[in-house]
Amino acid sequence: MSGTQGMLAEAFSATVNAATNPPPNPEDHGSKAHHVNGGKGGFVNPWDSWHDAGIVAILKGIMHYRKTHGVTGPKTDPAPNVVKPTFPTTRSATDTQFRATWLGHACFYVEFPGGLRVLFDPVFSDRCSPVQFMGPKRYTKIPCEIADIPVVDIVCISHNHYDHTDYGTIVKLQELHPKVHFFVPLGDKQWFTRSGFHNCTELDWWDVREVVLDPSNEGQKTTVGFLPCQHTSGRGLTDRSMTLWGSWSIESGGKKVYFAGDTGYRAVPQESAGKDDYAEEYKHLPVCPAFKQIGELRGGFDLGLIPIGAYVPRWIMSPMHADPKDAVNIFVDTKCTKAIAMHWGTWVLTDEPVMEPPERLRRALKEKGIDETGVFDVLDIGGSKDF
Ligand code: ZN
Ligand code: ZN
Repeated sequence: MSGTQGMLAEAFSATVNAATNPPPNPEDHGSKAHHVNGGKGGFVNPWDSWHDAGIVAILKGIMHYRKTHGVTGPKTDPAPNVVKPTFPTTRSATDTQFRATWLGHACFYVEFPGGLRVLFDPVFSDRCSPVQFMGPKRYTKIPCEIADIPVVDIVCISHNHYDHTDYGTIVKLQELHPKVHFFVPLGDKQWFTRSGFHNCTELDWWDVREVVLDPSNEGQKTTVGFLPCQHTSGRGLTDRSMTLWGSWSIESGGKKVYFAGDTGYRAVPQESAGKDDYAEEYKHLPVCPAFKQIGELRGGFDLGLIPIGAYVPRWIMSPMHADPKDAVNIFVDTKCTKAIAMHWGTWVLTDEPVMEPPERLRRALKEKGIDETGVFDVLDIGGSKDF
C-alpha cells in the first residue's frame, strides 16, 4: 500500500512490462496465419468463417438492398434512451466496485476493483467520419462530455475504423489525462506516435502485457491481452486491413473483462436473405474458431462487452459484424459469465431498424436457454451496471 492511504493519484503513469507468467497460446500460434508477408502486406482473417466480398461488391449490395426495399436507411425515432452517467470523483487502491458504463456505440468505461479505470474505443465526436461535415451523424446524444470522466488510466482501441478510433477524442483525452496509456492493435502505433500520442503499446493477437500503475502497490497487478476477432481495418481508400483488428482481455483487482471489439462470427450466403440463417440448412456454415480458443485459453470472464448491431444486409455484413444470435454464441464460446451489448444505437451504419438489435438479442438468448434477466443486458446510453 502506498503512503497516501491507498490513493492512486491521477499522476501515475502506467509501466508496461512483458508478462511474467504468460497464459498458454493456441497450438497454431507460431504460424502467424493472420500476417500477410510478415505483416508488411497487412493482415487477414485466417478462417473459413471469413468471406471477403471486396468493397465494390459490398457497396453494390447495399445499394441493391436499399433499391429493392425502398429505403434510404432506417428511421431513427424511436431511439435508445440516453441518461447522464455518474462517475466516482475519487478512486483508491481499496475500491471494491466493479462497474461498467456504456457511453454509446462501442465505448465503455470500466471501473475495476483496486482502482484501475479503462476506456474502450472512445468516440465522442458527432460524426464517425474522416471529416465532421459529412459521414454518419449521431442520432442519439453523447451521454456526457469527455471532461466528465474523472480518471482514465488505459485506453484500449479495437481497430482504426472511424466509429472506434477518433482523433478528436484522443486529442482531448491526452490533454485531460497526459499520462493515459493507449493499447492499440499491431500496426497502429505509427499513427498514434505521428499524432503525438507517445504512451502507446501495440500488440499482436495473443500478446499479453503486465501493467503497473502505482509501483508502491505491488498487489495491484493488471494484465492486458490482445486477442483475435473477425473484422478488417482502414481509414482511407488505400489502407484496407493494413493494420490489425482484435478484441481485448483485461484482468485487474481479481476481475476479468472481455471486450469483443467489432467482429463477425460467420459468413452467410446471399441466398439466405430473408431466411433464418441459423436454420438446419445453414448449420454447416463454419463459425470463427477464435472465440472458442479465447474461451478455452483465456476464458472465465466476469464481463463480456459484445457487439449486437450493424448486420443488415446480413449476407454482406455477416463476415464482419455479429447479429444478436452470433453475439450470444460469442458470449458462450468465450466463456463470459455476464455481458452488456454494444455497437448499436448511436450511428446508422447499416439497414436494420435501429431498435431491432436488443429485441433480437432477447429472442436469441431465450432460444439458447439463457433467458434470465441480468445475464446479457442492454443498457441505456450512459447507463452503468455494477457486478
Ligand atoms: Zn469496424
Ligand atoms: Zn464498428
